[in-house]
Amino acid sequence: MSWELASIALLCFCVLLMYLPGYAVELSSNYPGLQINSFYAAGEQLGEQFEQQRRQMVKYQIRARGIKDQRVLAAMSQVPRHQFVDSSWRNLAYSDRPLPIGHDQTISQPYIVAYMSEAAEIAPEAKVLEIGTGCGYQAAVLGEIAQEVYSIEIIPQLAERARQTLSQLGYQNIEVKTGDGYQGWAEHAPYDAIIVTAAPEEIPEPLIEQLAINGKMVIPVGKWYQDIIVLTKTENRIVEEKTIPVRFVPMRRKSFLW
Ligand code: SAH
Repeated sequence: MSWELASIALLCFCVLLMYLPGYAVELSSNYPGLQINSFYAAGEQLGEQFEQQRRQMVKYQIRARGIKDQRVLAAMSQVPRHQFVDSSWRNLAYSDRPLPIGHDQTISQPYIVAYMSEAAEIAPEAKVLEIGTGCGYQAAVLGEIAQEVYSIEIIPQLAERARQTLSQLGYQNIEVKTGDGYQGWAEHAPYDAIIVTAAPEEIPEPLIEQLAINGKMVIPVGKWYQDIIVLTKTENRIVEEKTIPVRFVPMRRKSFLW
């Protein structure tokens, strides 16, 4: 008799073990709102955090260092820099430094992006060429302040990723091409401004040719260490002004991947 009782108890216990996990799943699926709401709340909180970090970046890294152009400041406040870096670097997206973006390349320091954008004196109706798309962040900033942006990247994977990021963020006035930016992009020339974010040892002649009269080119020039040169093309001469010292990745002449 006691054996019978014991085996019935064991059977009940086994049945309980079998159903308990299923019950737990069912219970949680009856209250999905709880999980989804907290998921969205966390996302929203994160979005607000990034927005706050972006405000601080503009205030302390950019405005405090003398950038005054209101349209550049507005663009820097607008573009979600954290969307352009890998998730593992996202918490440092608004810090005062360049960050790795893969393939041995970097996203430029926020101040340098602002500095170059201001130095190029871009009007709302301007057509701009960028050499060195990288992750597409500078292109997005230019997309906020210019009418049309053309950007060239030599590493195909980076060009593709930048295209995806920019289209996900809804930029429709930016076109990215894979190729050697040393040659410029003759098809859409002349450009009101050219911003170069990889450093050649000398200013590429095709870029000077593709610059419009009264246009400005902002370009880091030099081997290991460079200076940003602001070049102005007038009717009959080229004026070059050496400005701040910087360190950019070198401009490559042709892709080792092709
Ligand atoms: N503009 C980027 C910075 C990119 S770093 C930003 O918004 O942060 C410089 C980029 O220039 C790299 O992605 C590198 O692959 C690219 N590059 C180097 N030489 C190039 C060339 N000849 N033509 C086009 N892109 C080039």
